[in-house]
Amino acid sequence: AKSQGKNRYVIHTAELLNVMMDEYKLEVDLRRALDKNEFVLHYQPQINNCTGKLVGFEALIRWQHPTLGLIPPGKFIKLAEENGLITQIGEWVIEEACSQIKKWQDAGMTPVKMSVNLSTQQFLTRNLVSFMKNVLERTAIDPAYLVVEITEYMAMEGEYSIHVLKQLKALGLGISIDDFGTGYSSLNYLKNFPIDYIKIDKSFVSELMNNEKDTIIVKAIITLAHNLHKEVIAEGVETKEQLDFLKDHQCDISQGYYFNKPLPVDEIETIYLAQH
Ligand code: C2E
Ligand code: CA
Ligand code: CA
Ligand code: CA
Repeated sequence: AKSQGKNRYVIHTAELLNVMMDEYKLEVDLRRALDKNEFVLHYQPQINNCTGKLVGFEALIRWQHPTLGLIPPGKFIKLAEENGLITQIGEWVIEEACSQIKKWQDAGMTPVKMSVNLSTQQFLTRNLVSFMKNVLERTAIDPAYLVVEITEYMAMEGEYSIHVLKQLKALGLGISIDDFGTGYSSLNYLKNFPIDYIKIDKSFVSELMNNEKDTIIVKAIITLAHNLHKEVIAEGVETKEQLDFLKDHQCDISQGYYFNKPLPVDEIETIYLAQH
């Protein structure tokens, strides 16, 4: 039994070393990815539930790795948060999203909103507001078209969070609470924070037709948001049944595979530029 235990330990160590080597290599590559321009944004359409019209996009980052192919954010955002690269990556995202808005406007596309995800670290970076102001000036876009998605974790810094959000609001941006209901929810921030949109997390939407509790929660979130004069976006809408439910219950905007997956810029242009 002893030797068996030892063997198991040896195998474990080897596996662990492999995992560590892979992560180490990925981290080395990640440090170079910005310089080598390997990040891309994909854009997922957001549709108005009443009109069926496109009202916005969410920009979602992907890493075009030279040998591993397209890596989803779930595989590198955490790493980037751990080694501090996330702030620089996040700045690239804002810059890229804003210049994309500008390009589409110049191409004659009817302007729609663009949402970008902020990481907690980026949110807490002292120069976030001045960076944002700078990019908006440089790209010369109307700030009203840019929306930042924050999570409930970022609201936890209390007064500081409010201070930052008020400054972002003063620049003219929209503010959205992402993954609503999955974090350390304190309903208090709905009262005190300058929030424009609430995004219902896809975990609630996916079970909408099967789980009565999710149905109750989604209805309550919509009512709460509307009474506080905020718009509601449902994410992860995959079926017509889910969409019909959301429409019936006055959810404002839907986003999900039912309409489109996040798509590269050329595909967005083929689908949506042609319509305008
Ligand atoms: P998120 O902000 O909650 O983004 C929604 C995720 O759900 C995206 O995954 C999107 O592709 C996926 N999704 C959209 N519609 C559907 C659907 O109908 N069904 C299902 N099953 N999934 C759907 P993605 O692109 O892999 O991004 C994962 C997470 O990575 C994001 O979650 C966000 O937290 C983070 N992320 C993505 N881009 C950025 C970024 O630029 N900066 C930061 N800090 N985080 C990012
Ligand atoms: Ca998001
Ligand atoms: Ca989300
Ligand atoms: Ca989510």
